[in-house]
Amino acid sequence: MATPPHQPLPPYGFGRPAPLPCDVCGAIPAVHTVVRGHQGLVVTLRFLTKEGTFCRTCGTSLYRKMTSDTLWQGWWGLLSAFAAPVTLFMNIGARRRIRSLPHPVGNLRPQLAPGRRVLVRLPALIITGALVAALGVFVVPRLIPSTPPSFMAGDCGRNNAEWPEQDLEEVGCSSAEAEFWLSEGGKCWGMDWLVYLEYSAEQEMLCAHPMKK
Ligand SMILES: [Zn+2]
Repeated sequence: MATPPHQPLPPYGFGRPAPLPCDVCGAIPAVHTVVRGHQGLVVTLRFLTKEGTFCRTCGTSLYRKMTSDTLWQGWWGLLSAFAAPVTLFMNIGARRRIRSLPHPVGNLRPQLAPGRRVLVRLPALIITGALVAALGVFVVPRLIPSTPPSFMAGDCGRNNAEWPEQDLEEVGCSSAEAEFWLSEGGKCWGMDWLVYLEYSAEQEMLCAHPMKK
């Protein structure tokens, strides 16, 4: 049956489903969703779910709390190392559903406080800090090209390659690891090797003499 003109649509009914109220505060609109959490407890683990109809405010609060709790409680077990990321991933869908709602109106009971965003809560900050530290310690040094040591006459070192290949490292002259000592290039003789110019601090020829054992 066609709706008579000039008559406003009744807000709901007539085929339009009534909006679901939020389970927590009673506000509308709300959406049915499942927010998940995970606790890894070394030998056992717990999958936590909060299923219900939530408004944007209460849903955001649940999502943030359970996601943030998972970030610090979720990893303490072998299986949990897999379960925690899956939980976090599944919560992205719940978050999207909740965030697509307009701001709720007409709450009958107090709403849950959304609190701070997940990324600025302590667990996320600690994980971010640890990742940055790991990056600094393990990755960055590999990206920086290593500069060869620069030698001067009188220095000692060792060759980590087989002569005449040179992969030189500076070693103290009194060290047992020292394999050669350096003089100026004009003083090379016998079994000595001329050192690649890249190892010379002053771009002058240097000569490596075997240490007398
Ligand atoms: Zn609510």
